[in-house]
Amino acid sequence: AVPVLTIDGPSGSGKGTISRLVAERLGWRLLDSGALYRAVGYAAGEEGIDLSDAEAVTRCARTVKIRFQPSADGGETRVLVNGHDATDELRTETAGAAASAIAVIPSVREALVDLQHAFRKAPGLVADGRDMGTVIFPDAAHKFFLTASAAERAKRRYKQLKDKGLSVTLATLQREIEARDERDASRPVAPLKPAEGAVVIDTTGMPIDEVVAKVFAVVRP
Ligand code: C5P
Repeated sequence: AVPVLTIDGPSGSGKGTISRLVAERLGWRLLDSGALYRAVGYAAGEEGIDLSDAEAVTRCARTVKIRFQPSADGGETRVLVNGHDATDELRTETAGAAASAIAVIPSVREALVDLQHAFRKAPGLVADGRDMGTVIFPDAAHKFFLTASAAERAKRRYKQLKDKGLSVTLATLQREIEARDERDASRPVAPLKPAEGAVVIDTTGMPIDEVVAKVFAVVRP
């Protein structure tokens, strides 16, 4: 089978950055599963669907067209939702909260399973999310779970959003992220938690290259 390396964790744990760097170094594909949930939440919002309407959101999850497009200038991968470049809209914490709201609906999660499995192509896949090691790729060869203190995770997200020109305050962001993590960890279906056998890395105060080194200490390419 095509090898998979999963990296799960709460928001701001560094999993997005680490997943990208690990995928680049291995020459493997990358699945940013959070972007799929963000895209569904966004598409549902665009259609005026109430995010608590499980049936309507599920229909949206089954039909939405999501495409990842490498940017021409080697910059950030663009996310196209029903043909519209929604990269900027998907980045906001409003989109994160919408994603978390629809992610509690079991039939929405089911609607995204095949799509996620389709990313598993040679020579390998690095999958980033909340349930990559527990639900979507339980047979992954290597599983990681990244964490960091709530304060540090909020600071990282704050810096990321500020760097992209979004106006946010640290205190508000920390509250929003805590609410989202709490919901992700307490939902009955695919709750955020380390997969069995996952290597847990607390990245608080740890530079990015050190986290990458810890991953490769286990993986040994
Ligand atoms: O990783 P990201 O912050 O983009 O994810 C947004 C939200 O999508 C998460 O807070 C979570 O509710 C949901 N999600 C999920 N399962 C995944 C990835 C993301 O439920 N595998």
